[in-house]
Amino acid sequence: MNDNAIAIIGGGVIGLSIGWQLLRHGKQVEIFESKEAGKSASWVSAGMLAPVSEAGFEEMDLLNLNLESIKQFPKFADELKEDSGIDIDFRTEGTMMIAVDRDQAEHLRRLYEFRKKIELPVEWLTGSEAREREPELSPAIKSAVWIPNDYQVDNRNLILALIEAVKKRGGTIHEHTPVESVSVSDNTITGIFVNGESKTYRKVVLANGAWARDMKGLPEDVRPPVRPVKGQILTLRMTKEFTLQKVLRSQKVYFAPKKDGRLIVGATVEEKGFESYPTAGGVKFILEEAWEAVPGIYDLPLEEINVGFRPSSRDNEPIISDTSVGGLYIATGHFRHGILLTPVTAYEMTNIIINGKSSELIEPFSLLRFKQ
Ligand SMILES: Cc1cc2nc3c(=O)[nH]c(=O)nc-3n(C[C@H](O)[C@H](O)[C@H](O)COP(=O)(O)OP(=O)(O)OC[C@H]3O[C@@H](n4cnc5c(N)ncnc54)[C@H](O)[C@@H]3O)c2cc1C
Repeated sequence: MNDNAIAIIGGGVIGLSIGWQLLRHGKQVEIFESKEAGKSASWVSAGMLAPVSEAGFEEMDLLNLNLESIKQFPKFADELKEDSGIDIDFRTEGTMMIAVDRDQAEHLRRLYEFRKKIELPVEWLTGSEAREREPELSPAIKSAVWIPNDYQVDNRNLILALIEAVKKRGGTIHEHTPVESVSVSDNTITGIFVNGESKTYRKVVLANGAWARDMKGLPEDVRPPVRPVKGQILTLRMTKEFTLQKVLRSQKVYFAPKKDGRLIVGATVEEKGFESYPTAGGVKFILEEAWEAVPGIYDLPLEEINVGFRPSSRDNEPIISDTSVGGLYIATGHFRHGILLTPVTAYEMTNIIINGKSSELIEPFSLLRFKQ
């Protein structure tokens, strides 16, 4: 065992991207993944990059982090293409928030006013203006808000690219290898237990998403308060006649059309622990709401029904942080923004691990906030 290597627990988008950036800085990296790398929340995600549509009233620090991360995406995508040869389809067609009835129109108006007030780029559209820009919309649409700067990527390509890039840079991904516990001695990390064996590491990154709280061996004061939030999400297949280009979001569902013809439609947000099966009610909810906004989906083939677990912290904001245990770092709790926050998490975490520094931008996302 090479104890100069950095161990990363969790091979989702967060663990893979941190590992890849550490490799780019000349570090040795081993990623441990209990199942197949990238096939959990990161795979079933819709891949939307939506800092403006998702801006919350009380979440200014998170908004700043989200805006910074979307700004970093072009550089991140270029670096990733350089290392992997895979294009992640960073698409800048923009996003439209839509209201399908009068209640939603009232709600949308409040969201629009808030975004105007904090000077985010948004444009109010009537129902007919919205349909001119997106002819697949139902004639029932009451109004819409155009958001030119919310984008999307193909999150599955992002995963495949990260796996390739990690391997090309000499990193190791141990799939089907769950980490059983971390080892801590004198408040310093000493390694991990896998396959019933103890392995020595001086630095360990806990990046196992919704499962992070349950990691054995963590002292209680560094156990991240993260829970799974179940999301059911569908994949439809677009036909030649169905020409949706932009990301659409109503108050209840969204549509993310991908270059390869998939149309991702989601999602439920459910507090059901790790319940891993889709339900008739969940699928009915998504399809009914989606059909009301875009009736043309009715005849599209339904290809996949997926379930994923968003890692959500107590305040629904990410934890990107060193800890009071020497050599232990945590990157989880990305909730609905894990794909969007991939670049900033990877760059900032690399800086924390290599230089021992965290920027002002990242300070609000320290684990320490839960002690106050
Ligand atoms: C339905 C849905 C739609 C979404 N849409 C979007 C979106 O449009 N835009 C956006 O930005 N975000 C979106 N998200 C959120 C985003 O997908 C997540 O925030 C992100 O994928 C979290 O990445 P992660 O690497 O932390 O977790 P995961 O991808 O879940 O990866 C964690 C990995 O850790 C592994 N693991 C667990 N325990 C262990 C262990 N003991 N040892 C080793 N490995 C372990 C797991 O097997 C898993 O592969 C969505 C999420 C869902 C569920």
